[in-house]
Amino acid sequence: MKTIGLLGGMSWESSQIYYQQLNRLINQQLGGLHSAKIIMASVDFAPLEAMMLQGNWSGIEDSLIKHAKNLELAGADCLIIATNTMHKLAEGISAAIDMPLLHIADAVAKDLQRHQKSKVGLLGTQFTMEEAFYRDRLLQNFGIETILPDSTDRLLINEVIFNQLCQGQFLPESKQAYLTIINKLHQQGAQAIILGCTEIGLL
Ligand code: GLU
Repeated sequence: MKTIGLLGGMSWESSQIYYQQLNRLINQQLGGLHSAKIIMASVDFAPLEAMMLQGNWSGIEDSLIKHAKNLELAGADCLIIATNTMHKLAEGISAAIDMPLLHIADAVAKDLQRHQKSKVGLLGTQFTMEEAFYRDRLLQNFGIETILPDSTDRLLINEVIFNQLCQGQFLPESKQAYLTIINKLHQQGAQAIILGCTEIGLL
């Protein structure tokens, strides 16, 4: 069995689900007492989030590369990053290590293709929704087109992520607001919705 290098803590609320799911999936396949081989680096998210707000992405990249290299040195065979937003830095991180980085958008795209969905709504942080790194990868590598919420809804989604979900608050009114936005995207032609932020599933 290969060993997964899991770069998490962004936030830890969702990383615990990754840890659980990876173990469950391995156990479903192998049964008995089998569980996943995982080496996890779980960061302190606060300073990284502060750098995001300052636009200091090279500072974040340096920090994540350091953790990714540690995982490799510790024996990981591949890297997964348990946040969509930090895939903005996927290229730089991937170039700094020898093990493969399994890109979160590729996993999503393969699942969408399995379900024959080619036009989908995208929810996530403002970085994930508004910048090219996620949407272009879906379009250019898989032919999947994304539809975004309008700017007011994008702001709401982003604020709920950082001010509530990443801090362990899952409020029914926020869930309702997300569902309203999802229904709007459906009416605009979305055949499926990407919960493109690792905490949204918790809501
Ligand atoms: N976990 C979130 C994501 O999947 C947001 C936190 C972050 O900026 O990494 O994008």
